[in-house]
Amino acid sequence: MAIETERRRWDGKLYIDGSFSDGSGGEPGGVLEKATGSRLGSYAVASGEDLDRAVRAARSAQPGWAARSYEERALLLRQVARAMEERADELADAIVRETGSIRGKAQYEVHASQNELYEAAGLASRATAQIVPSANTGKLNIVQRIPVGVVGVITPWNFPLILGMRAIAPALALGNTVVLKPASYTPMTGGQLLADLFETAGAPAGIINVVTGSGADVGVALAAHPDVDMIHFTGSSEVGREIGAVGGRALKKLSMELGGNAAFVVLDDADVDLASMVGAWSSFHYQGQTCITANRHIVMRSVADAYRAAIAERARRMTVGDPAGDDVSIGPVISESQRDRAHALLQGSLEQGARIVEGGTYDGLFYRPTVVDEVRPGMPLYDQEIFAPIAPITVVDTEEEALRLTNETPYGLVNALYTGDLDRGLRFAERVRSGMVHINDSTALDEAHVPFGGLGASGMGGRSGGEANLEEFTERRWISLQRTTVHYPY
Ligand code: NAP
Ligand code: MG
Repeated sequence: MAIETERRRWDGKLYIDGSFSDGSGGEPGGVLEKATGSRLGSYAVASGEDLDRAVRAARSAQPGWAARSYEERALLLRQVARAMEERADELADAIVRETGSIRGKAQYEVHASQNELYEAAGLASRATAQIVPSANTGKLNIVQRIPVGVVGVITPWNFPLILGMRAIAPALALGNTVVLKPASYTPMTGGQLLADLFETAGAPAGIINVVTGSGADVGVALAAHPDVDMIHFTGSSEVGREIGAVGGRALKKLSMELGGNAAFVVLDDADVDLASMVGAWSSFHYQGQTCITANRHIVMRSVADAYRAAIAERARRMTVGDPAGDDVSIGPVISESQRDRAHALLQGSLEQGARIVEGGTYDGLFYRPTVVDEVRPGMPLYDQEIFAPIAPITVVDTEEEALRLTNETPYGLVNALYTGDLDRGLRFAERVRSGMVHINDSTALDEAHVPFGGLGASGMGGRSGGEANLEEFTERRWISLQRTTVHYPY
């Protein structure tokens, strides 16, 4: 395996102030290959002391990093992107094993992470000040964008490399420094390899630091740390609420990318076979374990029989297995607890009258692509984020009902619809309440330069991508310059 032949000085280490070091918070944890359970490496457990050291390093590096020319900051980001190009196979292999994804997802993740770096490199030279009018004669008003300072980045396990990079790259581009806490299922591609890439590319000490350990200890401590200015969190809405409370109490800037409950709507004029292909991809890719997975298939009655049969047939044809060795459609789900949680959502819905059309079984962590019919609002599969390859179908009689159901959820990350009439699709999309809506494509889309993010329980703070990153990773400062004498009554 490629990563075993590489230097692994990062294995089991924290990355603080430009060097790899042991954690002093306890025995290292194991990093497991999800498909086989075999050990890939270990991760250090950071203590409060280690975290303090990381935050101090980020704090002291920040002014110098921000003072460098944009060219230097952009150059580092491009160098990391180039290093990723050279090590693309090694990185993809690590993602396959550590996240349990097929190679296509892993390659996508490497490529998309490079795009984040190139986009952010361009951001480094964007205008970060405006001259705005003043009511007072002789006054010059300058509104500058300045770095937020030290950014704590907390990431989930499903797309660990890209979800780290999409925050780290723009944060660094705009003169911030970073302390990253990756998920404990994926500390290698979510943290250790990221540190290694930046280190190899010549990152100055302290601008990026990686601390590993549990969310309950290290994550909370980072969110509460008095010398961290901002928390950029990607993960569940449940943990997001907790971080919001902790970070809010500490009066930090907060940016939250949270869970979803995406609808994939099939209108009655859709090409059903194409819709079933896109719907199957939306629910089953990477075992259904993304925030932008289609969690509800809302289908108009006149095409429901055909759609149900077509998506079930696609599910039946899919293969499930070890993505490192075999050519499979999907790999294992991340853990037994995630599997049991998703299976309980299925069982609970069956008890309330839902019906399995295809799948519904598993072998270890290998969960069969599953299609469930007669799912209604109020059932666990409908109301909750599933995070497994399960596609629930809800049949509706009218377009209005489809729209109402799409919008009736506390989440608002993404929705998609399939129709034979793009104009009708656009009218529908304009009435959908979510941060992203896709017509005749999957729920699962992302591009480095477009604003990605959600409303309601799906997000708080803003958006990731392009222009939106300027807003996310800077604060504003008003400087005024009075060029004529002013007179006050004292
Ligand atoms: P999670 O359980 O919320 O964990 C995310 C991160 O937070 C992990 O690093 C975790 O550390 C840490 N954490 C856990 N409890 C914490 C606490 N009390 N304080 C501070 N940090 C804490 O999410 P996940 O299971 O890894 O990922 C799945 C979720 O992420 C889904 O809900 C999905 O929709 C969401 N997601 C959203 C987006 C988006 O862009 N909107 C993208 C991807 C995923 P440990 O791993 O050590 O517990
Ligand atoms: Mg979790």
